[in-house]
Amino acid sequence: MSSAKPQLTLYNTLTRAKAPFTPMDAGNVRLYACGPTVYDFAHIGNGRAAIVFDLLFRVLRHVYGAGHVTYVRNITDVDDKINARALRDHPQLPLNEAIRKVTETTAAQYQQDVAALFCLEPSVQPRATDNIEQMQRLIAALIARGHAYQADGEVLFAVESMPDYGQLSGRNLADNLAGARIAVDAHKRNPADFVLWKLSSAEEPGWDSPWGRGRPGWHIECSAMSERYLGQTFDIHGGGLDLIFPHHENEIAQSRCAHGTHAMANVWMHNGFLQVEGQKMSKSLGNFFTIHQLLETTDFGGRKWPGEVLRLAMLMTHYREPIDFTVKRLEEAVTLLERWERAAGDAEPAASLAPGLVERLADDLDSPGAIGRIHALIVDEGRVADGLALAGLMGIQIQRQVSVDMDVAARIATRLDALNAKDFAKADAIRAELAEQGIALMDYKDEEGQRRTKWEVKR
Ligand code: AMP
Ligand code: ZN
Repeated sequence: MSSAKPQLTLYNTLTRAKAPFTPMDAGNVRLYACGPTVYDFAHIGNGRAAIVFDLLFRVLRHVYGAGHVTYVRNITDVDDKINARALRDHPQLPLNEAIRKVTETTAAQYQQDVAALFCLEPSVQPRATDNIEQMQRLIAALIARGHAYQADGEVLFAVESMPDYGQLSGRNLADNLAGARIAVDAHKRNPADFVLWKLSSAEEPGWDSPWGRGRPGWHIECSAMSERYLGQTFDIHGGGLDLIFPHHENEIAQSRCAHGTHAMANVWMHNGFLQVEGQKMSKSLGNFFTIHQLLETTDFGGRKWPGEVLRLAMLMTHYREPIDFTVKRLEEAVTLLERWERAAGDAEPAASLAPGLVERLADDLDSPGAIGRIHALIVDEGRVADGLALAGLMGIQIQRQVSVDMDVAARIATRLDALNAKDFAKADAIRAELAEQGIALMDYKDEEGQRRTKWEVKR
């Protein structure tokens, strides 16, 4: 491998321009991405955000060395939606226990789902409830510096105390005022002021604080957790487009005003939205799908979709573009993987990535360009080892799909013949042999009472 690092170029929402990326400390490149609020299964839009920032994490590790990147993705485990879910699902339990049940189950499911999408584990996955003290410290600093005030059982951030509030989203306070003309919140000095802390009733979860027993607002969580693990100013902050305003705008306001800094993060990156079959994904339209559903059920397009297909289908679109998630697109991803698989046979990936191959990814994560490159290397140029190495860098798993499919199908047929001939020893031997390769068989009878077998790859 050449010793010169490839130069990364990233689009920065804050400056609305693409620019060469220079970390503050090449020995510890620091990335924060807003993670899930854990009250329900993550949907495939959340899956997109996880994959996009996982790709960035992988590229940063490639450029700066795996030991020189810190990636923090938080878990929001205090939220009124969580409380509502806890009351609904576990009415018999004390609220605290019910909440813990909801958040622990959901967080574990999230980890499984994103692992199935080949996302690496972030360096740190802090939970909001483990960082209440840090949040309180930030709030106290904001009050002390004249950026926050108490009113009506809340501590609020005073947006007018920050002259350049609104830089990230490009909204100024006059716009906000115009948009919020029906001032429902009479206790706010400015309608755009937002909650840092709010009092909890006896039944609601709460922590003691100088401002009474209460709970944090959402935005302060990320300011506290990013400071704790990455410092007052760090390199890159990411999330979906929907988070630019108000979430990220308010994170910036809190962090910069509490610390008196010029920047919370130097680069702000946002992934585009995902829609399904041409429409915004929503429960009422019946086109809302969880990652789990696509992996484990046949609800979308009548078949299960393995994680590598979902991941490739996502990465076929540049992260800043919207994605229209369709059955057709997933089928295209399957076809691509099958082509690559056939061409690659059982070749091994190159031990290191040839210089130049990371070029597309280094250009603001041009994953469609990189996928085109993989295709050319494997299918057209006969550089299979290089193509596999580039796919490996992107977390795209090839070499399982087709030949496994055909092979397994043949052996399942042999085994069914053996079963029908009551040669159970032979049938069991085939089952055991496949199990050794991580393939599990499930026998069932179809509507006509015919013996059939399903199979799946166990990880
Ligand atoms: P949430 O749990 O809703 O706060 O979302 C977690 C992450 O997923 C955030 O970065 C969101 O911006 C992102 N996200 C939510 N919905 C979508 C969507 N439909 N498409 C892409 N990203 C999304
Ligand atoms: Zn956040």
